Amino acid sequence: MKIVSEIMKENPCYKAGKKIKVKGLMLHSVGCPQPDAATFIKSWNRAEYKRACVHAFIDGNNGTVYQTLPWNHRGWHCGGAGNNEYIGVELCEPDCIVYTGGSTFSCSDLGKARKVVQRTYESAVELFAYLCAQYGMDPMKDGVILSHREGHARGIASDHGDPEHLWRGLQMGYTMTGFRKDVKKAMEQGNGKDDLKDSGRTETQPYLVRVSIPNLNIRKGPGTHYGKTGRYTGVGVFTIVEEADGQGAARWGRLKSRSGWISLDYTRKISGENLQD
Ligand SMILES: [Zn+2]
Repeated sequence: MKIVSEIMKENPCYKAGKKIKVKGLMLHSVGCPQPDAATFIKSWNRAEYKRACVHAFIDGNNGTVYQTLPWNHRGWHCGGAGNNEYIGVELCEPDCIVYTGGSTFSCSDLGKARKVVQRTYESAVELFAYLCAQYGMDPMKDGVILSHREGHARGIASDHGDPEHLWRGLQMGYTMTGFRKDVKKAMEQGNGKDDLKDSGRTETQPYLVRVSIPNLNIRKGPGTHYGKTGRYTGVGVFTIVEEADGQGAARWGRLKSRSGWISLDYTRKISGENLQD
C-alpha cells in the first residue's frame, strides 16, 4: 500500500483544528465519475471549499492512498455525529459511469469500471487493516467499520448509499460484511503488523535531509532488521515525512517517495528550503 501525504491545509475543516478519539472507520465513495484523487484534492484544498473534508482519497487509476487530514483530526465526511469518532475515506470512482439518479448510474465500459473498483477496494482493505492496527481496533467488532450507508442506518450520517451503490451497480459481489472480513484477513496476514511493532512512529511536517555517507540502504521499515528495498549511492537530498525509533538510540525517517526508510544518523537536516515539490 502506498500512502502519500497531501494534507489539505487550506480547507476550513483543517483550519478548524478539532481532534477526535478515533473509534472507527467509515468508507465512502465520491459519487461522481472521477478516478483521479488529485482532482479532488485540488478542488477541496481551498479556503472556499466549506462543504466537506475527508482523511483520505484512494485513487482509482493506481490505488494510491492520499492522506488529506491527520488521522485524529475531526473530518467533515458524513454529515452527522459520525464525524466525531470516525476516520472517513473516499474511494474514487471510474470515469466510464454516468449518474442517472442519486445512487443509480449507467456504465459504458464494465470491464474498465470493475478494474478501477477492484483496485480501490483492495487498497481500502490494506488501509483499513493498517488503521485498525494503528488504533488497536477489531474490524469485526460492531460499529468499528461502517460504510456511509450503514452510518445513515445508525443515525450518525446523512442519507447516502455509498459505497455499496457502486459495488451493487457494477455487480462486483462486494459487501461491507465481506469488506470487514477482508480487513481482518489482511491483519492476520500481517498487513499493518509492522506498524504495531514500531514504537514512537510520528508523522512530521515534511523536511529535507542531506545524506552524509556515500552508500545508504533504504529499508522496508524503521530498523536494520527490515529488508532492503534499495540502496542510495551518492550524496543527495531526501524529503522525510515520518520518523520512528529504530534499535538502540537510532532514529529513522520515512521517505516521501514511499520507497522506504533511511537511518537519520547518516543525514543532516537542511532547513529553510522550499518543500512545495
Ligand atoms: Zn459518503
